[in-house]
Amino acid sequence: MTAEKQAAAAATTSNPAKPMNKEQATKWVICRVCGYIEEATKRDEACPACGYPATVWMDYTPRRIDPKRDKLLDLHLHPIAVHFPIVATTGTFLVPIIALLIPSIATTLFHAVTLAAMILPILAIIGGISGYIGSKLRYKTATAKIPKLKIYLTIAYFILSCIQSYVAFTQGVNTENAWVMIVLGVIGSVMAGRLGKMGSYLFAGRFSPYTAG
Ligand SMILES: [Zn+2]
Repeated sequence: MTAEKQAAAAATTSNPAKPMNKEQATKWVICRVCGYIEEATKRDEACPACGYPATVWMDYTPRRIDPKRDKLLDLHLHPIAVHFPIVATTGTFLVPIIALLIPSIATTLFHAVTLAAMILPILAIIGGISGYIGSKLRYKTATAKIPKLKIYLTIAYFILSCIQSYVAFTQGVNTENAWVMIVLGVIGSVMAGRLGKMGSYLFAGRFSPYTAG
């Protein structure tokens, strides 16, 4: 994020475009450092999220959102749903490594990782769809730069998960092909990490649309 963008974001939030009733204008404040939103009555206190002193607060007017959308957004479907594929993907490289290191429990671990790899594409789809729905609810378009990148990367991640699933179904994970699963699992985990990072820019923390007003 560039300094200009930050400044632009700050300008948007601190200069309400139209006059609004006082109650609305002073009800909420936002932390300029971390984007935490707090009731205006607590603006004399330090930010409870990042600890910066009370000078970080500025007035904040929540955007008007259709209550139905608001309720759906409040479920946080995507941030919850993505944990499942992330756990499974990281498992597909960590568990085979453990299995290779500890041969006495290798059989059990290979069975577990075979199962995880089999269902991985389904978990990836759930993560992807929940993200797409969230993006539809939150933004006017999913064709902005970051959502678009996320869609492409998710497709690549899904294809990779299908390859892992295919290996699991056709051969099962074992000592001979464990390295295949480990390599694919590492690549998948990097992709999942990138997706998470992009997601955090979209709706958590200081560069979120909430922060930008
Ligand atoms: Zn803060």
